Amino acid sequence: MPDASESESEPVVEIASSVLGEMFAHARDALPNECCGLLVGTEARIERAERARNLKASPTRYEIDPADHFRSIRGARAEGLSVIGAYHSHPRTAPEPSPTDLIEASDSALLCVIVSPATGEALGEQVGGFRLVEDRFVRVALVVGDSRRPRTTRSIGGEPRSTA
Ligand SMILES: [Zn+2]
Repeated sequence: MPDASESESEPVVEIASSVLGEMFAHARDALPNECCGLLVGTEARIERAERARNLKASPTRYEIDPADHFRSIRGARAEGLSVIGAYHSHPRTAPEPSPTDLIEASDSALLCVIVSPATGEALGEQVGGFRLVEDRFVRVALVVGDSRRPRTTRSIGGEPRSTA
């Protein structure tokens, strides 16, 4: 298998380990509804997750409050970062884009991260990253870790690397 970092066709986005914890905590707090929020960082790395209000307040739908979206954009800009994506939870289904997600997706510039705390045991069964390309979602490889300590990274869905 080729190393993902050398493959041009499979972009990799690094995600700070704290971001995973924040998204899962938000998903649990929002039950039985979906949660949603913004992801702030750079094109190559998600630094933090910021909670947003789900205007749909639904177990199967979400709509990020535009006021929260703008607040995140302003906050990110002030730090030289960007809102690079959005996340939402699937309370009862796998972290795969639903037909509704595809219908309502509009911004191909935003990374779409889905967290499903109730499904599966492995991290790869609980988190998925996607990008809208033309009219379909393409999976984006998420790598958990700290870029300053690359040996601690592990690929979601893959085997954890030895830290010995
Ligand atoms: Zn969804």
